[in-house]
Amino acid sequence: MSVRSGRGHFSQSLACFFLLFFSLCTQSSLYSAEKSSWQRAIQSRARSFDGQSFVGVHVIADVLNINIYYSNKVRKAVLYLGKTKATVTAFNPFVLLGRQVLQMPVATRYSNGDIFVPVKFFLPILAYALGETSGSSGSSIDIASAANIFGVRVEQKANGTLVRVSTSRKFADSALSIRFSREWLYLDILGGKIQPGAFASTIEPGLVKRVEPVQSKEMVQLSFQLSHEVSVRDVQVTQQTNEIWLSIPAKEAINTDLLKKLKDDQEKWKIDRIIIDPGHGGKDPGTIGKRGTYEKDVVLKVAKKLKKLLEKNLNVKVLMTRDSDKYVSLKERTQFANKNKGKLFISIHANWNRNSRVSGAATYFLGLAKSDEALEIAQRENEVIKYDDNQSDYSRLTDEQIILATMAQNAYNKESQDFASYVQKELNKQTGLRNRGVKQAGFYVLVGASMPNVLVETAFMSNKKEEKLLKQSSFQDKIARAIYRSVKQFKEKYEWRVQTSASGL
Ligand SMILES: [Zn+2]
Repeated sequence: MSVRSGRGHFSQSLACFFLLFFSLCTQSSLYSAEKSSWQRAIQSRARSFDGQSFVGVHVIADVLNINIYYSNKVRKAVLYLGKTKATVTAFNPFVLLGRQVLQMPVATRYSNGDIFVPVKFFLPILAYALGETSGSSGSSIDIASAANIFGVRVEQKANGTLVRVSTSRKFADSALSIRFSREWLYLDILGGKIQPGAFASTIEPGLVKRVEPVQSKEMVQLSFQLSHEVSVRDVQVTQQTNEIWLSIPAKEAINTDLLKKLKDDQEKWKIDRIIIDPGHGGKDPGTIGKRGTYEKDVVLKVAKKLKKLLEKNLNVKVLMTRDSDKYVSLKERTQFANKNKGKLFISIHANWNRNSRVSGAATYFLGLAKSDEALEIAQRENEVIKYDDNQSDYSRLTDEQIILATMAQNAYNKESQDFASYVQKELNKQTGLRNRGVKQAGFYVLVGASMPNVLVETAFMSNKKEEKLLKQSSFQDKIARAIYRSVKQFKEKYEWRVQTSASGL
């Protein structure tokens, strides 16, 4: 709901209120006469319930000589009072006077097929309806019509607490505001008016312990003392015809929902399934070093070492797009990752440059290449589609398509970038290779992956020294360890972040 202050609306309603109040005051001064004879007649036929004076509706109809409709089945009575009618029901404090809802401080009673209304509160309503104003309790009828807040009913529902404030009209959303202070909930109703001593509250045991109405010049403040603190965000304020509702979900209900959501989120975001994609394979050798080393062989070895580390040290399932020297198309790799609901996709490659002195490791995530180097590498890695029998599967990766593909991965862009920076940092730490940094480029193999994804260019096959290193099992171990460590960090940070953001709800 809106909690803006509606000054414009308020001054308007305040003006209306004073006009009405003023006219009633004038009226009552003219009619400050003695109690009408019908009132005395009714009072003489009253009976007592719990020390309070009540009178049956049939007695009223009899004394006033008016028509009455009475249904014992629904325990409802309608008294026809000249131009208007008053409707009362058994055990209910509300009186429907014409289209106006009035609330008496005490509810009606029921006994032997008759509804009994409280004399003290019902007679002024009758007098008002009949166009008379009683002298003794005149003020209550003035206010009965000037008042627009009649009482509160607190109901305990299966999933929370419903506070129903009975009003004579609909207030503007801007006239209502709620706030909390420790175990008190305050509802301010700008332009609200209560009848002193005629504010009824019915509270079912539960969240609300008691209600205190306070009338100030500009508004009514209803203070609810609660049995425990609730979050202001959980309270919903809605306006019904003649009622303001505050709905407060039960703490248990919130917790159950929250825990379920939290659990779902945790499951959803748990990095428990990792897809390792050793580049190339089969008829596609990838880059070939001067000493005859194949990229496809080196990356498969690194991938297998990484799989072992991950499965041994982290509670994760690792799936490989290939675990032998076979050809897998780029499309199949991403499809495999998606089909197996991977939470992280790591494509492992070795780099190449026509300049054999170029060296170092780089990590890529999907995006528009921002340097010639990145563009060139992506083009080279993407070239492998030439090995595909069905090349029409691949539309040319234009800048526009890369942007579209990146947008499609919007949910994972930040994570991919984060993960890429972990990988790069660890590669630098573990291998001591030149740090070529984190870059973005349009790799086919990353397009369409619905999970955070990166492509690692471990070292340069075109660099003699690095080709030699790439062949060494101990160096492959280092690369595997670097990637493993970055997965561990990413997993810890990512899962922790999900947890904290969910528990902050
Ligand atoms: Zn490659």
